[in-house]
This record gives sequence, structure tokens and C-alpha cells, in this order.
Amino acid sequence: GITTAFLGLGAMGFPMAAHLAAQAASGGGRALVWNRTEAKAQDHAARAGSEAVSLADTAQADVLFTCLPTSAEVDEIIAALSPHLRPGTVWVDCTSGHPDAARRQRETLDALGVKFLDAPVSGGTSGAEAGTLTVMLGGPADEIDAASPHLAFAGKVVRVGETGAGFAVKAVNNMLLAVNLWAAGEGLAALGRSGVDLGAALSVINASSGRSNASENLIPQRVLTREFPVTFALGLLAKDTGIALDVVQSAKASAPTLAQVAGLIRAAAHVVGPQEDHTAALKLLEQMNAQEIR
Ligand code: NDP
Repeated sequence: GITTAFLGLGAMGFPMAAHLAAQAASGGGRALVWNRTEAKAQDHAARAGSEAVSLADTAQADVLFTCLPTSAEVDEIIAALSPHLRPGTVWVDCTSGHPDAARRQRETLDALGVKFLDAPVSGGTSGAEAGTLTVMLGGPADEIDAASPHLAFAGKVVRVGETGAGFAVKAVNNMLLAVNLWAAGEGLAALGRSGVDLGAALSVINASSGRSNASENLIPQRVLTREFPVTFALGLLAKDTGIALDVVQSAKASAPTLAQVAGLIRAAAHVVGPQEDHTAALKLLEQMNAQEIR
């Protein structure tokens, strides 16, 4: 069997790495884990059957996964690991990273004989737990074909293009999440101010052409309930919309709506707090309307 290593056991990484450990247990391989806060790696070993190891020892892996907040933390880990890395290792970065960083990281690792694939995921913490994440991969087709059997946390794997394309698609997807969330919030705030029952309004919208994942799931489950459970931080969504704007800019595309929503999400992260759930962005909208969405 092969040896995998997973670095970054956060909200996404912890359950993703558990699927690698289960695959290793059934296929005679090893699943190494490392986390900056070591207690989480010990906990993972105890609960998921992985092996908690030192950062240097993760370089023994055939396939090495990272899932960190941004490409900046991935750069730090590449720098720290580079004396230990072995030629032939494939580095699969599941961070929602930056396309420019991916191209740089691929070059840096290529000099060490290590392949780099950008492999961000969608499906949230529930998809990570269920092992049904969608993985969008950037890199050469042959390398992606070789890595695909090891993505034990995936329900769907799509090669979207060359290095950086995975991160670009992920950023645009999350930009659309932000647009749909914010736009649905604006519409509901207006209806709330008009005295309309928002549960009734959503039951219509969700049977009609205005529906989205925000109207069908996020707003009913997280906003109307006032629970705002933190599974995906608002600061990370602001990071993603910022990357999407960089993608727009480098393509010389014209995307004024996206720019506006990115600015609003950034403002919400400052006002509401980057550690809050991403759906708490609508608390800024509530302040702007003197109207709760409930
Ligand atoms: P979390 O904040 O839950 O986890 C972040 C992880 O990164 C932790 O393991 C943390 O370690 C580690 N980390 C942070 N800074 C450093 C550092 N300087 N050096 C080493 N390790 C570090 O984030 P998520 O799991 O939610 O998100 C991870 C990535 O996945 C992000 O790019 C996010 O945008 C993306 N994503 C998130 C989704 C979600 O629903 N949450 C869905 C899809 C993608 P420590 O435990 O020590 O703090």
C-alpha cells in the first residue's frame, strides 16, 4: 500500500484525513497526519486510526495533502519541508489557494522532483465527513490520473485545467456562493421590512426560479434560526472573493457585480468578525436595513 500524509487537521482536514486513514486500513497502507497544534493530530490518531508524526516525517509520504487557510501557510510548510522532501512525492494542495501561488509552488517543488496539484474541494464540512467532496484539480492530465485513486474523501473529481485552474474555479464558485447569499439576504430584508413572513417567502422562492443553495439551505438552517453555526469562517469567504477578483483582474474580465459583492463580504468580515460563520455576513446587511432576517 502507499503512504499518505495529511497536513492541517482543521474543520475540513480532520474529516478528510479520516477517509485516508480508513482507506489505508483497508488497503495495507499508512496514513500519516500532522497539525500545527499537535493535540489535534494525537486526537486524530486516536479517533481515526492515523499516525501522528513530526512535520519532517510527513516527507516520507508518496502523496502529501495540505489543507491550510491560505496559500501563504502552504508556502511556509513547503519552505519548512523542502530539506526533507523526496523525488517522486505528489503534493496535493486542498487549500482554497491562489492560482499565482500554485504556479510558483509547482516550480519550487519541481526543482525537488516533487509534483504539485492544486486540488481545492467543495461540499463543506458535511461533505468532508461523508466523503462526498467535489475535488477540482489543476495540473497535467497524467499526474491527475495518477493522484485521483488516492482522493478517498471525494465523491466527484474533475480536472479543470492546468496548474492554478483548480484554485481559480474554486474562487469563482465561492464568489457565486457570496453573490447568492448576499442577494437573497437583500431580497429577504426588503420583504421583511414590507411585513411579509419570510418562511412563506422562502417556500415560494425555493419552488421558483429565484432559488439557490443560500435560499434552500443556508438561510433557513443558519440565518432564520439565528444559529449561524461556524463551519466555514467569514474570513475565509472574504479571502476567496478576493482571489476571485484577482482572477477577474488577471483575465482582464469585466465583472462589476462580483467586485461589489467582494467589497461587501470584506466589510462584513471587518464588522461582524472573520471567525464568525460565513452566513453571518448577513448581520451587516441586517444593520444596513434595520431589519433582522428571521
Ligand atoms: P480551519 O481554520 O478550520 O483549519 C485551518 C487549519 O490550518 C488548522 O489545522 C490550523 O492548525 C492550520 N494552520 C493555520 N495556520 C497555520 C500555519 N501558519 N502553519 C501550519 N498550520 C496552520 O479551516 P478550514 O478547514 O475551514 O479551511 C481550510 C481550507 O479549506 C481553507 O482554504 C478554506 O477556504 C477551505 N475550505 C473550507 C470549507 C469549509 O466548509 N470550512 C469548504 C471548502 C474549502 P491549528 O489547529 O494549529 O490552528
